[in-house]
Amino acid sequence: MTWEVVIGLEVHTQLTTQTKLFSGSSIQYGAEPNTQASLYDLAMPGTLPVFNRAVLDKAILLGLAINAQIAPKTVFERKNYFYPDLPTGYQISQLALPIVQNGHLMVTADDGSEKKIRINRAHMECDAGKSLHDEVYGMTGIDLNRAGTPLLEIVTEPDINSAKEAIQYLRQLHQLVTWLGICDGNMQEGSFRCDANVSVHKPGTPFGTRAEIKNINSFRFIEDAINHEVARQIEIIEAGGEVVQETRLYDPDKNETRSMRTKEEANDYRYFPDPNLLPIVVTEEMIEKVRETLPELPEVLQARLISDYGLSEYDASVLTQSRAMCDYFGQMVANGTDPKMTANWLLGEVSATLNQQGVSIDAFVISADRLAGLLTRIADKTISNSIAKKVFELMLQSSKTADEVIEAEGLKQVTDTGAIEGWVNEVIEKNPKQVEQYKGGQTKLLGFFVGQVMKLSKGKADPAAINALMAEKLQ
Ligand code: ADP
Ligand code: MG
Repeated sequence: MTWEVVIGLEVHTQLTTQTKLFSGSSIQYGAEPNTQASLYDLAMPGTLPVFNRAVLDKAILLGLAINAQIAPKTVFERKNYFYPDLPTGYQISQLALPIVQNGHLMVTADDGSEKKIRINRAHMECDAGKSLHDEVYGMTGIDLNRAGTPLLEIVTEPDINSAKEAIQYLRQLHQLVTWLGICDGNMQEGSFRCDANVSVHKPGTPFGTRAEIKNINSFRFIEDAINHEVARQIEIIEAGGEVVQETRLYDPDKNETRSMRTKEEANDYRYFPDPNLLPIVVTEEMIEKVRETLPELPEVLQARLISDYGLSEYDASVLTQSRAMCDYFGQMVANGTDPKMTANWLLGEVSATLNQQGVSIDAFVISADRLAGLLTRIADKTISNSIAKKVFELMLQSSKTADEVIEAEGLKQVTDTGAIEGWVNEVIEKNPKQVEQYKGGQTKLLGFFVGQVMKLSKGKADPAAINALMAEKLQ
């Protein structure tokens, strides 16, 4: 019997609020150390927490999107531990009554089937500060800007059975939280961080002891870290040893995990309800108000893009990676552009340009309406596809409409048969050898002739018209 891998994931998402969970300090990333830490964040005696309501709505929104139960009463608890970046000596978190309970996400399992990954809880909590290690002076400083930043920790049951499945789940969750707008998803800045609990056992026997791999912040590292950890555990067990329950740190440079500390049990933290914070009563009315803001979910929209617009599954899945991209698509199609052509442009020229410029579609210099103008001119044959790319380039550099660029540059497609006939005749005259070969049966040469006419017309002749005329003349 082979080993079965068992994985449970804990994802910390930083919520996109203006201010902290219990204070008015900004949570903007990248500020000078300790410029966004109030007296409360520094844990000065006598200061009191004030709950940020925006956090509750974002947590409820996630709960609704994963078909979870929203707790009618939810409580903040203190999780006590000592660490230099935690001036309070406790983290405010939730244990017994988390806001979100018993939801799930569907992922594609390794065998291609749909698989349910249960999410047993998502709870609100405060982020800690950061220790900054200075190599030059050999000193460590504490930056408390991040202390108190609102997190939603999203925890799965141990339903995941391979590194690939873990990545599937994480990509799906990442897509969902950014789609909902509750997290910016920036993994480099730590807005979406994952801890992986990994164990191995023989099917039909109890679960093995797990190790928790901390803070892996890129999809690639997560897969490597899990695979590495699985191999390590199997090796230990097969050599007659035992896996110890501990927290391990992944080192991407060496592709190995190493022990950080043995794992505390929940009761080591002496959780107790925070006496400064009242339990939160969540009414049906509050939930319904949030439900009204729930957008169409990515998988629903994806299905609709396929059924209503005839997009391929691939195109639909790439488009729905970003809600802003889908909005842009919708706006273009509302302008009457062909959906398939629109998707091709968005996934082709537009995505390439965005990548090159390192910006997202929200910041794209060509608006959906302006790009729709360009596609309309391809559809009505004012310009060919290749000329359209030229127009697109020029539109990137100015705020002109497609029509203005076409007019100014004289790029209108020539559909006038008189002009096209002239070029066709010229090409036939100049290439007697190829004409001979064509007439001898090498009809593939038609492409060559059409290409030559295109060249003469500087790309402006209508390819369909050249094709027809050329075939006729070569008879
Ligand atoms: P803790 O309180 O120590 O964080 P939890 O019971 O909350 O422990 O579980 C944390 C995570 O570990 C969850 O995602 C859970 O699914 C996962 N997990 C629990 N047992 C195992 C196991 N034997 N192997 C892998 N993952 C596990
Ligand atoms: Mg945990």
